[in-house]
Amino acid sequence: MAGKKIGILALQGAFIEHEDCLRKCGANPQQIRSVQEMDQIEGLIIPGGESTTIGKLMHKYRLEDKIKEKHAEGMPIWGTCAGMILLAKEIADMEQVHLDLMDISVRRNAFGRQVESFVTELEVEGIGRSQGVFIRAPYVDKVWGEARVLAYYRDYIVMVQEGHLLATAFHPELTDDLSIHSYFLEMI
Ligand code: GLN
Repeated sequence: MAGKKIGILALQGAFIEHEDCLRKCGANPQQIRSVQEMDQIEGLIIPGGESTTIGKLMHKYRLEDKIKEKHAEGMPIWGTCAGMILLAKEIADMEQVHLDLMDISVRRNAFGRQVESFVTELEVEGIGRSQGVFIRAPYVDKVWGEARVLAYYRDYIVMVQEGHLLATAFHPELTDDLSIHSYFLEMI
């Protein structure tokens, strides 16, 4: 997996942390802010942050159509937290810019006020035990089509894969565990 050029959408949110993880995995991370930069990468991470803000900026910089075009060409894309919201086809009770790519319905800020942020152990299919850092996280309340659940927290779906699309409600980039980054790199 050495040297794979992975873009991280760097409009807002936790993109630096993903960059560090990718470097530790031996990949070659690139911050993405323009359509031109999208042509130089083999995979894309859409980080956590504020999905409404990232969506608006993505639209403003015309990255929305470019990301969809790259998806259609088969480029792997991984969304964490806000990134997962942006990948979803459905966002419960919300109207906002999103990519409309993945057969999942998500609910924003779904874990409620008291437990807006927490850390827990997860069992991830094909990966094993992983630490889940949840920060005002969404969960997936429905999957359909080819979307496959890879992890649950209690009864909630928190990780899904659909072909070359990966979505996590939690933040692996905020832990020392590189297993999910490695998994994504293997998808490329
Ligand atoms: N609550 C944010 C949203 O709805 C996501 C939080 C995150 O990415 N950590 O966009």
